[in-house]
Amino acid sequence: MRFGVVAAALVLGALPLANRTLAHHDVYFGSSYSNICDATPLSQCVANDANHFYALIELSPARLTATQRALGTLYGPNSDINVFTSNSSDLRVYEANNSVNAFAWGQCAVGATYGGSDAAHTRWCQPQQVFWQTASAAASKVNTTAKYNYIGCHEVGHTVGLRHRSGTPSTCMIPASKPPSDPTAVVPSIDYNATADYVRINDHY
Ligand SMILES: [Zn+2]
Ligand SMILES: [Zn+2]
Repeated sequence: MRFGVVAAALVLGALPLANRTLAHHDVYFGSSYSNICDATPLSQCVANDANHFYALIELSPARLTATQRALGTLYGPNSDINVFTSNSSDLRVYEANNSVNAFAWGQCAVGATYGGSDAAHTRWCQPQQVFWQTASAAASKVNTTAKYNYIGCHEVGHTVGLRHRSGTPSTCMIPASKPPSDPTAVVPSIDYNATADYVRINDHY
């Protein structure tokens, strides 16, 4: 039986590389199908490589903890991404108080370097930025640890290429259904990824 397991693994390993590398580039992974990341800096890119160097810049304790959890607990050990704090060359995470009507968002830094292919949805930018909105309409609705953790999981997920999941999957990559300006908006509390999210990451990097 042991031999059978090994043989199966070899068969999987022999899949044509093109099939393996393209399979995860569905609408839930990679630079946007409608907005390529260099032309539309507010759309998400993938990371430039599997080593994710990040800096957390003057975050409140709850935002700091949620962001560190996403990088160190969710993505680092559970994917082919290697997470490092030794510099900020790939990802910089900030707070912002402005008119952006979102609980948080990611974008390419001004002057970022771009690479990858638009056709293959592998466009990347470096460094990426994530902002936590601190304006009260947004911040007041992030009122539980799970909601902070949802945002950390969601935004860091974007930085490694995950896009929004539609339907009702149990993953932090579902978007908030209403923006902060809507008084009835509720921030999701799903603070972990689906297995399929990690599969896409592992297939890419
Ligand atoms: Zn999002
Ligand atoms: Zn890929």
